[in-house]
Amino acid sequence: LNANCYNGKSKEKLFLLSFASKIHEIRKMAGIYIHIPFCRSACEYCSFHFSTSLKNKNDLLDALCEEISLRNDYLDRLEMESIYFGGGTPSLLEIAEIERIINELHRFFYLSDVREITLEANPEDLNKEYLKALHKIGFNRISIGIQSFQEADLQYLGRIHDSRKAKLAIENTLASGFDNISTDLIYAIPGQKIQMLRDNLNIIKNYEITHFSAYALSVEEKSILEYKIRKKGKSKPDEDILREHFYTLKDFAESNDYQHYEISNFCRKGSEGIHNSNYWKGKKYLGFGPSAHSFNGNERQWNLAVNQKYIEGVLRGEGYFNKEILTEKDKFNEAIMLGLRTSMGIDKKFLEALSDNKERHALQNRITGYIKNALMKEEGDRLILTPEGFLFSDKIISDLFILNYSLQ
Ligand code: SF4
Repeated sequence: LNANCYNGKSKEKLFLLSFASKIHEIRKMAGIYIHIPFCRSACEYCSFHFSTSLKNKNDLLDALCEEISLRNDYLDRLEMESIYFGGGTPSLLEIAEIERIINELHRFFYLSDVREITLEANPEDLNKEYLKALHKIGFNRISIGIQSFQEADLQYLGRIHDSRKAKLAIENTLASGFDNISTDLIYAIPGQKIQMLRDNLNIIKNYEITHFSAYALSVEEKSILEYKIRKKGKSKPDEDILREHFYTLKDFAESNDYQHYEISNFCRKGSEGIHNSNYWKGKKYLGFGPSAHSFNGNERQWNLAVNQKYIEGVLRGEGYFNKEILTEKDKFNEAIMLGLRTSMGIDKKFLEALSDNKERHALQNRITGYIKNALMKEEGDRLILTPEGFLFSDKIISDLFILNYSLQ
């Protein structure tokens, strides 16, 4: 008998099993995501799934409500903690349309423990009447797609709102009973000076916004921006500027009491987004609508990202999604990927548990190298990316994936 085995299972495999069961324990509650795949116009940088034609909006909402009834047992009737309407632009729906979806969710799910109901919204949609109606039907968090308060940035991005509308949207949201507001910002936009980014951040601070997300501009394949850079010579983002902007964000957060709790997310203490935080903790979630993803602890499922095909599939009751079963190795790698995105990092003990195999040595060496180069740090039991490490997170995370383990 191999000294490293017990009942035919290696220590590493036993560890992975207990790690998986720990993950299972924390996944007691889940979230619901609703994808609304329509926008008023196409922003140049965007690669999300959306259509600017609203002609099949009613059919799509019928299909979405039908999908809610078809898949109500996907998470074994788990209690829900959060509901998140994303897109696309959910705020182009009328209140009655949103209410219809909420009512459908109430028919099929336990929602009495829901702590957060978020609507993603664009500034041009946020008038007081609309916001008050959202508040009345249960929404308690609005995530506003501001991106920038600077006209030049907004023009570069191809947004349809201007700075005045962006500010008015925040003022209307605050005046309509919402104190839980998040704003999205984009940085490293060509032409965006450091001071412009600082001004954006100060505006958010002055409105006492408790949460913001800040994403580095990236040029996505098949986006209008990618086409314009390639064919029309539009300026592209610069990596040195990205680094400078990232450190500006970090310094701003530190000196203004915002916690940098995930690569792209900042908040006042206690104002973390519950729904997205639960993704990073590996909790289960159920997504409805075209392109929406679901995860039940063992498999990942994603809906077709073509509105008409999604509608037809749901009405047939089949063929509107794809899925994959996750192996223990997939789950292990995913825990590394999700954990390292956050300021909590990952528990280094489970990496140490891989110590009796070849791959563990390679992994340990890579971690030691990253610590030596100040891309990663140890804090108690945790391994955490440093701010510099966040800048290279994609590479570091994929470098730490285990390749050869399987519990099959
Ligand atoms: S960025 Fe948002 S509003 Fe703009 S096209 Fe993409 S999903 Fe629509």
